[in-house]
Amino acid sequence: MNYQRSSALFKEAEMYIPGGVNSPVRAFKAVGGDPIFVKSAKGAYLYDEDGNKLIDYIASWGPMILGHAHQPVIDAIVDKAQKGTSFGIPTQIETEIAKLAVSMVPNIDKIRFVNSGTEACMSAVRLARGYTGREKIIKFAGCYHGHSDAFLIQAGSGAVTFGAPNSPGVTQGTAKDTLLARYNDLANVEELFDANNGEIAAIIIEPVAGNMGCIIPEEGFLEGLRKLCDDHHALLVFDEVMTGFRLAKGGAQELLKIDADIITFGKVIGGGLPVGAFAARNEIMEYLAPLGPVYQAGTLSGNPLAMSAGLTMLKELNERPEVFTSLNDKTKYLHQGLEKVLTEAGITFQINRLGSMISVHFTEAPVVDLESSAKGNNGTFKKFFHGMLNEGIYLPPSAFESWFLNDALSYKDLDNTIEAARKVATSL
Ligand SMILES: *Cc1c(COP(=O)(O)O)cnc(C)c1O
Repeated sequence: MNYQRSSALFKEAEMYIPGGVNSPVRAFKAVGGDPIFVKSAKGAYLYDEDGNKLIDYIASWGPMILGHAHQPVIDAIVDKAQKGTSFGIPTQIETEIAKLAVSMVPNIDKIRFVNSGTEACMSAVRLARGYTGREKIIKFAGCYHGHSDAFLIQAGSGAVTFGAPNSPGVTQGTAKDTLLARYNDLANVEELFDANNGEIAAIIIEPVAGNMGCIIPEEGFLEGLRKLCDDHHALLVFDEVMTGFRLAKGGAQELLKIDADIITFGKVIGGGLPVGAFAARNEIMEYLAPLGPVYQAGTLSGNPLAMSAGLTMLKELNERPEVFTSLNDKTKYLHQGLEKVLTEAGITFQINRLGSMISVHFTEAPVVDLESSAKGNNGTFKKFFHGMLNEGIYLPPSAFESWFLNDALSYKDLDNTIEAARKVATSL
């Protein structure tokens, strides 16, 4: 495939935007080469500036769960735009989407909308600290909760892709209140509670991690965290920015049958527009301004265009829950196909999958946390990534990212992807 125009556009972008991108993982640093520039997208396909058609496995990193430019979402946005795009004054649609979200997600009474997953997680932790009157939080190595200071301690996603776990600019003071634990290691979390008795406000976790590849919580792990939080009067924060409205209508809480205290959202909830949200039971949400003392605000929060895209998306997922079964079946089919062709090619690999999240790791041992994920052979991943791209398959440009399937993918697309993997595997 030819990527001349994309490369030229990237060179120009680099002159005016740091690294040529507005979010680091887009830059292909982990896999080498220049990023492709997208011109448009429809359904399961991306069309780039050189006229290539690619089957998309990132779905804008999750939001486009029903495929790109999904007509009902586009119609809703266009219709709303005609009536004004921002007021900074309440609108009815904010209540409509809040009411629907509260009905779909277990264990929440109220929800506050923000503009990104980062904002949602940052606000959730402030709320947890305000509610408990404690300062420390526990996070897991390899989990990504956005780029706010408290979370840039062994964060996943772009932060781990670049091997710069602790970002300059995060103060020692901030870092000391973030305690790090190993994913799937309950004993490690228990030790932290023992060593910081009465000081821990919350545990924040991706209930299914997607920022160090796709990592599945082991049996009993999340249940154990729930119990530790109850025993120590700390809050359990589920970062469902990836898993919310993707793994099930009610997200990971519903699928894994665990109640969290605060849940954060992003990605799918905005239907492709910039939206985040956080939610909890009344007694916690009432700590938020203007009802309570914990301050949180946003000029463009609850923006009408964003709310109309999100509402249309959630309505469809609510009315057609079979989408989740369909996505699960497609991802399983892809999993089995990839497993077959990689095995036939004699390659060492692990595939992790839950629902419509899946990742391929070129390593021998099971991938259960950041350490085991980091053992993956990045040289092999790079070759695999570029080989697939050359066959017209767009995968996340980093081994530390989950792939996200969208329901516009047909079985023919999946067969083409498996066939491409067969070809690429023989050259690894
Ligand atoms: C993407 C992501 C975030 C950050 O959301 P942004 O909208 O990029 O700020 C937070 N947590 C998780 C689990 C994510 O995957």
